[in-house]
Amino acid sequence: MELLKCDKCGNIKRFYRNISVSAKLRVNNKGEDLKTVYDINKDDCDNYFEPIYCCECGTQVGE
Ligand SMILES: [Zn+2]
Repeated sequence: MELLKCDKCGNIKRFYRNISVSAKLRVNNKGEDLKTVYDINKDDCDNYFEPIYCCECGTQVGE
């Protein structure tokens, strides 16, 4: 299989896909959202067929 490479910035190591997972967001006793996300259900990922993007510059590099 051909390795991924970003043609724009030359990055060959860091890529990502957008996915959706179910997880929990902590809320404090005033009902305000905190920054803590936990109980991420990695077995429940969606959007596996999203394109692949470069982590460095955000360019789409593959399917
Ligand atoms: Zn890039």
